[in-house]
Amino acid sequence: MSNEAVPKGEALLVKQAREKYIATYGRQPTVAACAPGRVNLIGEHIDYCEGFVLPMAIPFLTVVVGGYNNTDECRLLSVLGTGEELQTKFPSTKKSPLKPEQPGWSNYVKGVVANFPDVVDGFDAVIVSDVPMGAGLSSSASIEVAIFTFLEGLTGVTVGLVEKAKLCQKAEHEFPGMPCGIMDQYIVTMGKREHALLIDCRSLEAEQVPLETDDVALLVINSNVKHQLTGSEYPQRRAQCQEAADKLGLPSLRGAKRDDIEVLKRLGCDELVIKRAQHVIEEISRTEEVGKILGKKDFKRTGELFYQSHDSLSKLMEVSCPELDQLVNILRGATGVYGARMTGGGFGGCAIALVQKSEVGNLKNLILSQYKNPTFFVCQPTDGARLIKV
Ligand code: ADP
Ligand code: MG
Repeated sequence: MSNEAVPKGEALLVKQAREKYIATYGRQPTVAACAPGRVNLIGEHIDYCEGFVLPMAIPFLTVVVGGYNNTDECRLLSVLGTGEELQTKFPSTKKSPLKPEQPGWSNYVKGVVANFPDVVDGFDAVIVSDVPMGAGLSSSASIEVAIFTFLEGLTGVTVGLVEKAKLCQKAEHEFPGMPCGIMDQYIVTMGKREHALLIDCRSLEAEQVPLETDDVALLVINSNVKHQLTGSEYPQRRAQCQEAADKLGLPSLRGAKRDDIEVLKRLGCDELVIKRAQHVIEEISRTEEVGKILGKKDFKRTGELFYQSHDSLSKLMEVSCPELDQLVNILRGATGVYGARMTGGGFGGCAIALVQKSEVGNLKNLILSQYKNPTFFVCQPTDGARLIKV
């Protein structure tokens, strides 16, 4: 098995989807849309503290092709990267309101159809995606926003990008039942080639930050581990951060300053709560700094902040794992690496490294010589969801 996943590209995915559509439904599709995956550069475990995140869209895509079928039913076929095919059908919203039900994956589609700001007549669609599922690269927002964009093309009803992202987030909350933040749907909707997106999770304002990748590349390394924890870690971190904010008399840790760590200590706050608060306060400041310097191509300082972010997530937030620590440690100090860190919620999933493009091959070999089964994705920041030629 190859250790590198290479994006198939829009043209190939559309061709595959169109051929499958014709073979399945016996006619040509009339509408096509696509949406990318994403990776977060910095700003981890601070979205729920009203901090900042800095994701970029990556060139792995979910493509949807389809058309009206003149029935009261929506029928969908999803072709996975493994070649496996999933099918589902449900009534058009003209017929009856939708509710979450099995199979689980269909809720990512149904939630979007249910939240679309217009009645949706019966349609047929084929989905083809090369965004790895469940790897932390947001295949979920990718399929949601791809379906929403497809529905815009189908119905002719469109909404603004912010509204679109919010409706897709609402869909994920209500149907699969995932209480996700706004980052994934924002970046998948608003991503821009050669840019990352600095999102203020308090005001929900977003700013495009130039990320020119002539000489640098973002190497995403999937650790291919996902530690099964009790599931209480994430809500526990949230609660600890809120406890710190409450002690300081603030609505969230967004308003806290470095000096407030000393205040928490004086207040006799729990040691773990203080560690979590320190991570949040410092990570917010790191993310703001990267947002300012990335456009100036200050990759050296950005890399330092990546390492600091990782160490803080590992030691203060305690959401890393031995495999992610090992991947970051292999890269620490290696030729051509500006910085590396875990990305996503933690306990497995992916690490990222900002590296010199010319060293990508050497760095992959270095990791392969020390880490048992990584998967690499070399990513450039890419465009968000859009209608495409069918
Ligand atoms: P991530 O978003 O990090 O990939 P999630 O657990 O949030 O992981 O979402 C993964 C789930 O989204 C899958 O288990 C599946 O139910 C659904 N999904 C994503 N992409 C597709 C697709 N192309 N076809 C069918 N289901 C998909
Ligand atoms: Mg997801």
